Amino acid sequence: MAIQTRLLIGGELVDGAGPEIEVENPFTEEIFASVGSASREQLDDAVRAATAAKAEWASMPAVDRAPLLHGIATAMRERTDELALLMTREIGRPLTESADEVEWCAACFDYYAEVARSEIGRVIPPIESSQFAVVVKEPHGVAGCIVPWNFPLLLLTWKIAPALAAGNTIVAKPSELTPLSTLALADVFDDLPTGTVNLVAGAGETGAGIAEHPGIDCVAFTGSVATGRKVGVAAASRNARVNLEMGGKDPFIVCDDIGTEAIEIAARGGAWAAYLNAGQVCTSSERFYVMESIFDDYVSAFVEHTDSLVVGDPLDASTDVGPMISAAQRGKAHDQIEAAVAAGAELLTGGGDGGFDRGHFLTPTVLTGVPAEADLLREETFGPVAPIVPVKDLDEAIRLANGLDFGLGANVYTRDLKTAIRCVKEVRAGSVWINDPLTDNDAGPFGGFKNSGIGRELGTEGLDAFREAKHAHIDTEIEVKDWWYPYG
Ligand code: NAD
Repeated sequence: MAIQTRLLIGGELVDGAGPEIEVENPFTEEIFASVGSASREQLDDAVRAATAAKAEWASMPAVDRAPLLHGIATAMRERTDELALLMTREIGRPLTESADEVEWCAACFDYYAEVARSEIGRVIPPIESSQFAVVVKEPHGVAGCIVPWNFPLLLLTWKIAPALAAGNTIVAKPSELTPLSTLALADVFDDLPTGTVNLVAGAGETGAGIAEHPGIDCVAFTGSVATGRKVGVAAASRNARVNLEMGGKDPFIVCDDIGTEAIEIAARGGAWAAYLNAGQVCTSSERFYVMESIFDDYVSAFVEHTDSLVVGDPLDASTDVGPMISAAQRGKAHDQIEAAVAAGAELLTGGGDGGFDRGHFLTPTVLTGVPAEADLLREETFGPVAPIVPVKDLDEAIRLANGLDFGLGANVYTRDLKTAIRCVKEVRAGSVWINDPLTDNDAGPFGGFKNSGIGRELGTEGLDAFREAKHAHIDTEIEVKDWWYPYG
């Protein structure tokens, strides 16, 4: 099937008139498509189209928007194979993971189609008995959505599903590394009023154009801390609403109360949390804190499981871990490993290219003895790397978990209810998973503490990110109030 490389602007598919973006397959290292990015004029056109569409979409009752959102979900599900293949060709991740992503997107559209039907505000107690007071939640207007490459359709969906459900229109931009899967979506929006969803392509300049654009009322961003900060500044400088989802360095705590029989399970869970999507998940587990009495057994089980994983062609059904997205991303993770080893860490397995003569492979890596000050334990790695550190007790594990300026997610393995509740209360992260790493739930908010983010996606919080609250105060009597002038 031919690859769709045109932008969606005002209901039309148009060739991007800006600089060409070449799309590389991370497994074959071949350029297999190129996309014209949006020129400045085309970005303006997209914003104009979204602006023209906003009154009709905002005034449509949620009950009428719902079937249109369910229709998007259905259209995505019907195209699962095609979209999954495209994502795997862009990202290099196993096809199973890409197919899962399409289903998660469809489920998210279905979720917001219904959630947005439940309320558009609330009734509040009035100040006087003659009054009626309500809070009305209204759409912001045009939502500008800027997305990274690691889950191109899911992170787009986490923005546009709630934004559309709340009555906003959209100008969205995928990463320059993965424009194709997003542009391929164009026709799933066919049943929406013309101009409701606009898809542009481009790199940082186009993203900055969205963040700064006076016609964009709110900006929803997912990406690195450094870029998020720029987007936040650009949005704040014109008082646009903004939601930022940024990087992480998630801890993974394993307590010694889990029992010998569960060590292998916690090791397999840890390996999945560290290597999923070749470790390129914002909530990848990147620091393992394991209690001393089970440390050796845990590390052995982790290494044994890691060595059993199949690294290779992401289109091969038996592959567990594919290549990383790019030479640059691989280089960054590899540099962190090398620096840690030079500083005294022991490389137990992985860290190589798997013997492949092409593809950005970094074999799943386990290290111990990483010095506390190494980047590998302090900065985002975004690669399939698991540094495992012994801790003497829960106090030390929680202290280390909270010791960085990130706070996206955190995982804990324990059988002790008190420990679980203590971790939920004390670990400073937007998601705390006990005994089930990295499981998202459309109904629960997702986002970061500290440098990992501002605002939340998913859940009703994610809907509120795209709504402005208005207080409506209605007095049924017209009368002079006794607190007016004169005071004397
Ligand atoms: P990135 O910050 O390089 O790029 C993200 C997006 O921003 C891309 O579309 C890019 O073109 C655009 N961009 C670049 N410069 C811009 C600018 N000046 N103004 C506006 N937009 C600009 O991030 P990436 O490398 O694509 O993605 C990886 C990062 O994303 C990691 O740090 C990861 O942790 C983070 N991430 C966070 C979450 C989350 O939910 N918190 C989820 C996934 C990924």
